[in-house]
Amino acid sequence: MNDVVLSFEGAVKTYPGTPPVESLRGVDLTVRAGEMVAVLGPSGSGKTTLLNLAAGLDRPTAGSVHLAGERIETLSDRRLSGLRAHTIGVVFQQFFLLDHLTALDNVAGGLLYRGLPPRRRRTAAMDALERVGLSHRVGHLTRLLSGGERQRVAIARALVGRPALVLADEPTGNLDSANGDQILTLLRDLNADGVTLLVITHDPHVAAACTRRVQIHDGRIGGES
Ligand code: ADP
Ligand code: MG
Repeated sequence: MNDVVLSFEGAVKTYPGTPPVESLRGVDLTVRAGEMVAVLGPSGSGKTTLLNLAAGLDRPTAGSVHLAGERIETLSDRRLSGLRAHTIGVVFQQFFLLDHLTALDNVAGGLLYRGLPPRRRRTAAMDALERVGLSHRVGHLTRLLSGGERQRVAIARALVGRPALVLADEPTGNLDSANGDQILTLLRDLNADGVTLLVITHDPHVAAACTRRVQIHDGRIGGES
C-alpha cells in the first residue's frame, strides 16, 4: 500500500455562532499517494470546510487531521504555514490569479514561501507551465487569457512546488464543458504521472474520472464507490 498523504480521524469542525454551525461531524477519510479522490455532496454539506482542513488552512475543533505525517491541530501557526507551503497545492473554482501579472509570475509566486532564489523560481514556473501545456503563454498577462487557460495557470501554480497533495475545489465549476473537459484530461494526466489529487466536484464527468468517490452529507461521509 502506498503512503498515507492525508487522513481525517473523527474530524469535527464547528463554527461559532448562535446556534453554532456543525460543518463537519466526525469525518474519517484516508488519501494515499497516487490516488485521485472525488468528494461529492450537495451545497452546504461541508466540502469546502473539508478542503480547508486538508489544506492546513484551518484546524479541526475536535478529532484529528494528519497531513504528510503531521497532526495539524498540534502545530503552531508558523509550522502549519511551513507544512502547507511544502506539502499542498490548491486550485480554486475562481482561479484566484493576480490578473495584472504574467502567467510566469503568477506561477513563480507559488514558490514565494520556499526561500528559493528568483532564478530557481522562474525555472520551476516554466516547467510547471509546460506541464499544463502553456509554454506559449508564459509572458501573457493572466487577465488576457481564456477561462480554460487561466485555470491551467492556477493548476501550474499548485504544482510548481511539487506538493505531496493537490486539492481542487470545483476546478471545472466556472468553465464551459469543452474547457472543463480539457481541465479534466489534464488532471487525469497529472494523476497518471503520480500527482495525488483530492477533487471537490459537482461534475459527474470529473467524479467518474477519479479513482475513488466519497460522498459527504450534512458534515458526514456517506457512501464510497
Ligand atoms: P459546501 O462547500 O459543501 O457548500 P461548506 O463547507 O462551505 O459547504 O459549508 C458547510 C456549512 O458550514 C454550511 O452550513 C456553511 O454555511 C457553514 N460555514 C462554512 N464556513 C463557515 C464560517 N466561516 N462560519 C460559519 N459557518 C460556516
Ligand atoms: Mg464549497
